[in-house]
Amino acid sequence: MAVEIVTLDSPKAGALRRRAKPVGKITPDLEKLVDEMVVAMKAAQGIGLAAPQVGVSRRVIMAELEDQLHILINPRIVKREGNELGNEGCLSIPGIVAEVPRASRVIVKGKNRRGKGVVIDASGLLARIFQHEIDHLNGILITDRADPSTIRIIPPDERIEVASTSG
Ligand code: ZN
Repeated sequence: MAVEIVTLDSPKAGALRRRAKPVGKITPDLEKLVDEMVVAMKAAQGIGLAAPQVGVSRRVIMAELEDQLHILINPRIVKREGNELGNEGCLSIPGIVAEVPRASRVIVKGKNRRGKGVVIDASGLLARIFQHEIDHLNGILITDRADPSTIRIIPPDERIEVASTSG
């Protein structure tokens, strides 16, 4: 069964507000979850996704930018630099965008899908996606971080475009 993206009004929305549990061993079930998340992210034309967004409270995130797919298990930010505001959408809160302050550069450590340790030095949009997705692992949403005056509702005909900046 394919996974589905959980939105704030769905019955599984509780996962969006919980602190997700670390992943222990990489099991076939976990690999299946990762595969299904990739499919769900692409289908939604998103650029990032975290496991709580498919109702699974585990520390797994992904980001896809310029045809490069990053999958991180138990990710953590070990360094942040700079600060910038940028527009973000969220696949779990369809139809809104908000201006969210983020570090402009982050170094993220985690494991890849084979359980090997990886370190990613990200800046700009990729850094923003990682911060957005790691927030999801801690139950934090863009509406928690944005100045409320910057939250905008997007008309349905513009939502496809917004999806391409959402995670
Ligand atoms: Zn999101």
